[in-house]
Amino acid sequence: MQEIGRSGRDGKVAHTLALVSEPTGWLNPEDKQRSQFFTRQIEQKARQARQIMQQIPERGNIEEVIAEYPESAIALSILHSLDCLSWKDPFSYQKTSAVVDVNRWQTRQKYWQKQMQQFLQSKQCRWQFLLAAFGFEQESLGFQCGNCDRCK
Ligand SMILES: [Zn+2]
Repeated sequence: MQEIGRSGRDGKVAHTLALVSEPTGWLNPEDKQRSQFFTRQIEQKARQARQIMQQIPERGNIEEVIAEYPESAIALSILHSLDCLSWKDPFSYQKTSAVVDVNRWQTRQKYWQKQMQQFLQSKQCRWQFLLAAFGFEQESLGFQCGNCDRCK
């Protein structure tokens, strides 16, 4: 949804396309493997983030960390979103907290996973859904963009 919001930011016409992988169960609400798949993914990424936090120095260069721990790019992003790291510049980080609250991140991921599933299955205008999802509840009421696949 964030990427959809970025397209057209320049005010020009933009087209977005969501490709959905059926084996994940996104299109089949009865598929019990769907939630198990994403729960496993989320737990694995949270474990990696906690592990990377213990392995990296107090401050360092992002590219050096990624070179030493090839799977660490997402972990660093998670640690940043949990305020465990701050970027000193686009290439350097500094640890800011030793506490890695992966439960907070997991809860957020599960919320967005559910939102994304609702977005894909929604029959309402895509923009109406996005407006509401990003906190513009009032503006979304009855909104019809007239351009999305649902409106057309
Ligand atoms: Zn629409």
